[in-house]
Amino acid sequence: MTDFPALPRAFTPEQIQFRASVRRLMESEFAPQTARWREQGFVDPAAMTRLGAEGLLLLWAEEDYGGLGLRDLRFVQVLQEETVRACGAGFFHNAHSMLVGPYLDHFATPEQKARWLPGAVSGEVILGIAMTEPDTGSDLAAIRTKAEDMGDHWRLNGAKTFISYGVTGSLFVVAAKTGTGRGQISLFLVPSDAPGFSRGQHLKKIGLHEQDTGEILFTDLRLPKDALLGQEGQGFAHMTKLLAVERLMSAITSQAHAQTAFDLTHQYLLDRRAFGKPIGAFQNSRFRMAEMRAKLDAMQAFVDACVLEANEGALSPEASAAAKYATSVLEGEVMDQCLQFHGGMGFMEETRVARMWTDARIARIYAGTNEIMLEIIGRSLGLGDPRPAKPQ
Ligand SMILES: Cc1cc2nc3c(=O)[nH]c(=O)nc-3n(C[C@H](O)[C@H](O)[C@H](O)COP(=O)(O)OP(=O)(O)OC[C@H]3O[C@@H](n4cnc5c(N)ncnc54)[C@H](O)[C@@H]3O)c2cc1C
Repeated sequence: MTDFPALPRAFTPEQIQFRASVRRLMESEFAPQTARWREQGFVDPAAMTRLGAEGLLLLWAEEDYGGLGLRDLRFVQVLQEETVRACGAGFFHNAHSMLVGPYLDHFATPEQKARWLPGAVSGEVILGIAMTEPDTGSDLAAIRTKAEDMGDHWRLNGAKTFISYGVTGSLFVVAAKTGTGRGQISLFLVPSDAPGFSRGQHLKKIGLHEQDTGEILFTDLRLPKDALLGQEGQGFAHMTKLLAVERLMSAITSQAHAQTAFDLTHQYLLDRRAFGKPIGAFQNSRFRMAEMRAKLDAMQAFVDACVLEANEGALSPEASAAAKYATSVLEGEVMDQCLQFHGGMGFMEETRVARMWTDARIARIYAGTNEIMLEIIGRSLGLGDPRPAKPQ
């Protein structure tokens, strides 16, 4: 595999060193386990504690909680790129660290942080977020999971589906209605050992087989009053605050996944022969690869610019929506072309690019579907329905 990308990127010496050490770890310890993870349908929880021991979970967490206090998202980007390169898109520790963890960072009380962050940093507590329900995903305001204020506690009832880490997760940020009005939503910290918490199906997917996705159910689940995360009724506002970085994480993953497929395929084009020459020597191969090279380089520059913008706290919702949208579309395009270049081998499960092709499909659906991304970008152009987008 060639080193990626072809275009030079500005990283500090520390970030370059960090990349080298993460690459060694991913290649030597985790990549050899991915086939077994896919077979069993989940990543061993021990992989999370191993990452925790290396200081690679919740990089941003303060030292008081066992973290490194590293808030520069370039390190997060490097970690995610190297994870995807060695192990694929299904090793979801980034969701734990960067999609769910930030809810604790931004909205948890000091007591909640003291209780949960050390375990999340060490990997003993695996974090999930539960918004989607059987009847609603994009339209989060229509959720039915309900938290009732019982005076001295909350009573939670409802069902969530498609939850990442739904099978192995131990603490969930749960969105629930706390009022009758549309959109009156609050967030709660729900541990999986709470009485009334149960797990439904371990869902079978067409890709990302190593990432467990499941249903979780709440039946008269009694939550202490201090399980409320952030302010009552402010669930939408809280989620909106974190969406830009969340979508950027999706963009980083899509870009790294597409780049990895490109690199694998580049090597295949040099090695595989037909009609007496490497298949890379055909004009079609050269042109398609050149096209992908140009698009990947342009997209990488955009993603890098978004990461630097996010480091300043200035990444706009429309820029992050554009990054999520455009990278996931390019990812799909690249996977399809790379699979085609592998011929019949491209359709074999044993071929990495074949697995990557199935893994890539979800990027246009989760973290907000691409249609929702287009709504956000389109509205920023002053076009159409002026109502604000509902986060989901
Ligand atoms: C592998 C996987 C992991 C996931 N992990 C999590 C998780 O950890 N936590 C969690 O809460 N959820 C998770 N999800 C759920 C995911 O976020 C939702 O599937 C996604 O948001 C879409 O919601 P939906 O499936 O209900 O689709 P729907 O909202 O029913 O959408 C169906 C179609 O209608 C379109 N549509 C909807 N509204 C509009 C509109 N306003 N304009 C135009 N088109 C529209 C959509 O774009 C889509 O094409 C996961 C899903 C998968 C598959």
